[in-house]
Amino acid sequence: MSHRVLVIEDNVLNLELVTDLLEADGFIVSQAKTAEEGLRAAQQGIPDLVLMDLSLPGMDGLAATKLLKSDPATRHLPVVALTAHAMQGDETVAMHAGIDAYLTKPIDTRTFSQQLASILAKARMTKNPLG
Ligand code: MN
Repeated sequence: MSHRVLVIEDNVLNLELVTDLLEADGFIVSQAKTAEEGLRAAQQGIPDLVLMDLSLPGMDGLAATKLLKSDPATRHLPVVALTAHAMQGDETVAMHAGIDAYLTKPIDTRTFSQQLASILAKARMTKNPLG
């Protein structure tokens, strides 16, 4: 079964790159360019994983993650932050917001899909160790 990834990213080039990489590896991708649009998309068709740019116009990715994690319908969704910054200093803040994992930009196009697949596998293992 194909995994569905919701990509929330305001940079169009990056959004297209990530979409192409994931679709090439069999993921089903839906796109949003703002947090608000992404939250609506997450409610309407619950994905398997959310890839969240942290720096977004309007509501930022941390605030959007907090909302996803406070909603019973979406709180189980793994949220992977996509960030240009090394997050060392902000890690605690991000963990409190509920970010499950990070990928840093620029993304490594050779390993990107695999990284996401292993994060997804780990999230499923945590949620349901036997299945
Ligand atoms: Mn951005």
